[in-house]
Amino acid sequence: MPPKSKLGQNFLRDDAAIARIGAALGNVSEQLVVEIGPGEGAITRTLIERAGHVMAIEVDHELAIALRAYLPSEKFTVIEQDVLQFDFAAAAAQAGHKLPVVGNLPYYITSPILLRLAENHASLDRAVLMVQREVADRVVAEPGSRDYGVLSVTVQMYGPVERLFTLPPGAFSPPPEVHSTVFRWRFAPRFAELGVSEKGFIQFAKQIFAQKRKTLANNLRAAGLEPAAVQTALAETEISPQARAESLGLSELARLHAYLERKQAATL
Ligand code: SAM
Repeated sequence: MPPKSKLGQNFLRDDAAIARIGAALGNVSEQLVVEIGPGEGAITRTLIERAGHVMAIEVDHELAIALRAYLPSEKFTVIEQDVLQFDFAAAAAQAGHKLPVVGNLPYYITSPILLRLAENHASLDRAVLMVQREVADRVVAEPGSRDYGVLSVTVQMYGPVERLFTLPPGAFSPPPEVHSTVFRWRFAPRFAELGVSEKGFIQFAKQIFAQKRKTLANNLRAAGLEPAAVQTALAETEISPQARAESLGLSELARLHAYLERKQAATL
């Protein structure tokens, strides 16, 4: 059946890359692995060999049927569903452990999938994900780099990320227009350690990176804070009034947010 570009169907054809993705998950021989978007089963076959069980979430009805026919195994279940609706908590409860997740993601919904995984961090152990190279650059970016922004901060607050390797378009059929990068994400949220609430901090990150060219102070003012309150907050948290959000690491950003949350609570 012809690939459906609107579902991001670029199938991996590189055996060495498939082996590296499987190996990057580590030992899963006793575990349930969740695969996002199995497609024609390129990665799935390796996973079935390595894992205790593979649960693959595929939204395309024809592919779901074909996978059940071509990969008959007691160790393999296809869930025909949109991954954004998948119940990770129920799957983790059924498995009795936090889930390893793997996927060559459909690029048209990469950010929603990353946010969905972040929301479900309590049910997840680690993820090995293939995304468009430019997205991986933003996910793993460090403070001070051009790519550091709301995606880096959001993902990294849920745990450390490592870039693993990059593939050219020719590793896929049909070839996408972009390079693709595999990264690993270990779920270990930092909110409690850094003294901030999850929801409040993620909202704060969106505000301070709203206009990347503006200073942090200007973004905070644009978000509705009084200029005097912004000046005091930056002085009290020892952050330069000229700083841009992209120059600050997670702990500095969390220090500022925790200060603002305390101030707000004190005025209620
Ligand atoms: N894993 C396969 C591979 O590496 O060859 C296929 C990867 S392809 C880039 C993305 C896959 O995700 C496709 O099979 C596509 O049908 C599936 N997909 C697209 N949108 C989805 C969604 N919302 N939920 C689940 N799967 C989806």
